[in-house]
Amino acid sequence: MDQLEGKVAVVTGGGSGIGRAVATQLADAGMHVVVADVQEDALDATVAALVGAGHRAIGVRTDVSDGESVQALADAAIAEFGAVHVVHNNAGVGVGGPIWTHTERDWEWVLGVNLWGVIHGIRVFVPIMLEQGGPAHVVNTASMAGLISVPYLGAYNVSKHGVVTLSETLHRDLRLAGSEIGVSVLCPGLVATNIFESQRNRPADLTDDGRATGLSALLEGAGESRATEDAIGSFGQVLSPDEVGAVVVDAVRTDRFYVLT
Ligand code: NAD
Repeated sequence: MDQLEGKVAVVTGGGSGIGRAVATQLADAGMHVVVADVQEDALDATVAALVGAGHRAIGVRTDVSDGESVQALADAAIAEFGAVHVVHNNAGVGVGGPIWTHTERDWEWVLGVNLWGVIHGIRVFVPIMLEQGGPAHVVNTASMAGLISVPYLGAYNVSKHGVVTLSETLHRDLRLAGSEIGVSVLCPGLVATNIFESQRNRPADLTDDGRATGLSALLEGAGESRATEDAIGSFGQVLSPDEVGAVVVDAVRTDRFYVLT
C-alpha cells in the first residue's frame, strides 16, 4: 500500500507502547486513525495527542478478546470514516513464570487477548476490506516469542506462535481468493513499553497471589535462569516503540510479510 494519505487505519492497543507509536506514525503519514484500547485513560491520551497535532482521529474503548466489542469497533470506524484500509491487531498482554504455574485464568486471559484478539480482528475486518475493494493491509503483532520458545512465557509463546500461523494462513487464503490485501506479522524482540507491567491490565478476578506476573517475571527470572539469560541475549538490543513503529509503517508501504525488529 504505497499511498497512505487520506486512508483509514485501526490500531488496537493504541493507548500505549508500540500501538501508540504506530498510530502516531500512520497519522503523520496522512492516515485517519481509529485508536482502540481497553484502558480509557491511555486511549484518551493517544487520541488527544493525535488531534492536538492536527490529525483526524477517534478513540473506541475496545476489549479485543470480545468479538462483539471488535465488531462495535469496526462499526464505529465505518460510521466515522466510511472505510478501513489498515488494521493493526496489536493489543497484547503477558503472564510470566514456569509454564506449570500458569493458572487456567492466566491461559484464558493471555490467549483471549493475544490470540482471540487477532482472530476477531481478522474475522471482522478482512470481510470489510474485501467488500470495499482496493488496497488494504493487515498487520498482526506477534513477537520473537512467536518464533522461539522463551522460558517463563509459556502462554505468551503459545499465543504468539498462533499469531504467526494465523498471519501466514491469512496471507495464503487471500492469495488463493485472488486478493492483493497485504499481510504483515510483526515479531519484535524487546521493546521498551508498559508491557513489563502488564499485570496492571489483568482482570479483577486474577488476584495477586504473590507470584511475579506480567513479563516482568521474565526479567526477574533472568537472575536465576541461565536459559532465560540466553533467551534475553538472543533478543538483542532493547528498541524504542518509535523505532518499531517506523518499521511497521515501512512494512505496510512495501507489503513486507515478516517484520523482525
Ligand atoms: P503496552 O502494554 O505498552 O501496550 C499494550 C496495550 O494493549 C495497552 O495500552 C493495553 O491497555 C492494551 N490492551 C491490553 N489488553 C487489551 C484488550 N483486551 N483489548 C484492547 N487493548 C488491550 O505493550 P506493548 O509492548 O506496546 O505491546 C504491544 C504488542 O507488542 C503486544 O501484542 C505485545 O505482545 C507485543 N510485543 C511486545 C514486545 C515488548 O518487548 N514490549 C515484544 C514483542 C511483542
